[in-house]
Amino acid sequence: MTYTDAAGIELKNTAEQRVEPIAGNTLRLTMDWNIQSFVTQVCLELMEEKQANEVSCIVMNPQNGEIYAMANVPEFDLNRPFELPEGTTCESEEMRQDLLNKMWRNANVSDTYEPGSTFKTVTAAAALEAGVVTFNDTFSCPGFYIVEDRRIRCHKVSGHGSETFLQGIQNSCNPVFIQVGLRLGAERFYSYFEQFELLEKTGIDLPGEARTIMHDPKKIGEVELATISFGQSFQLTTLRLLTTISSFVNGGHTVVPHFGMAISSFDGTSTQKIAYPQGTHVLDEAVSAQMRECLESVVAEGGGNKAYIEGYRIGGKTATSEKLPRGTGKYISSFVGFAPADEPQVIIIMTVDEPQGIYYGGTIVAPKVKKIFENILPYLNL
Ligand SMILES: [Zn+2]
Repeated sequence: MTYTDAAGIELKNTAEQRVEPIAGNTLRLTMDWNIQSFVTQVCLELMEEKQANEVSCIVMNPQNGEIYAMANVPEFDLNRPFELPEGTTCESEEMRQDLLNKMWRNANVSDTYEPGSTFKTVTAAAALEAGVVTFNDTFSCPGFYIVEDRRIRCHKVSGHGSETFLQGIQNSCNPVFIQVGLRLGAERFYSYFEQFELLEKTGIDLPGEARTIMHDPKKIGEVELATISFGQSFQLTTLRLLTTISSFVNGGHTVVPHFGMAISSFDGTSTQKIAYPQGTHVLDEAVSAQMRECLESVVAEGGGNKAYIEGYRIGGKTATSEKLPRGTGKYISSFVGFAPADEPQVIIIMTVDEPQGIYYGGTIVAPKVKKIFENILPYLNL
């Protein structure tokens, strides 16, 4: 900066000095622009088709936690943060503020939800590792299971009849998972939540990560245990669930989900890779192989079949959870899928909040995740 007098003559010896801008460092991200654009487009399409409140999606490498895409629609224009999406009606200023707050949040990281059946992967992994069940154990589902004074329904009211544990996973049968959860017992089940790091934040390099809201371990009775075993009565983020399921299918080690890869000096002469903790082993490798196998069979033969792609091996699990308070007919539907099923390189979670009309995760979300896989597997040379 320079100063002049009234005649425009530059003044010498002023205290102010011009400071040249310094070029900053370059942060390299794991995010892939093409995948991010495609995923956002698929989320918008689903939100529109189902007249839903919100659609969220994360695409990650389950081996190392690199996030390729993270979408949360409706989005907002950073240049116009106070503009709500077109067609939004607000009855009051308070409502407008709530909607703005909701729009600004990254639901994947900051919002917890009741996961429903995708959480059955946790029950299965814990029970298989504890040795309280094998794939061939047989169960019987008359359409409900009685725990203490409660009659807890299966989603198939007429019942699944006689089935093995593997078929129970494919059918997503609640009575099967209730019985497996009861075999584990509250104390052991809870210790697996700790082992699988479900009660901790993932450590993602984004602000505002929400923590899991779980029962006090001393207050888990049989009814609570039964509902936890099929993914109800507690809340976590989609990011937390995706990160834990990653460790189930990657051979059993934890990962830290992240965007930051490396920092390069502005002139490109030096690059420093960002290091993340080496994963700890949280699940037996043989059980991890079983998890890949059973979740692949869910897509090949079970409730996730709408994500099946000829020529690709895909594993996954669907979920449909009724929002609280129950009985209002509002749902969150979701799907978690990974590929290739024998050695996963990509894992995806997608949730849709309050879809209208048909709301089953297997019917409405699985086909969208399939669409993402169809697009990105060839793109990633898989
Ligand atoms: Zn059943």
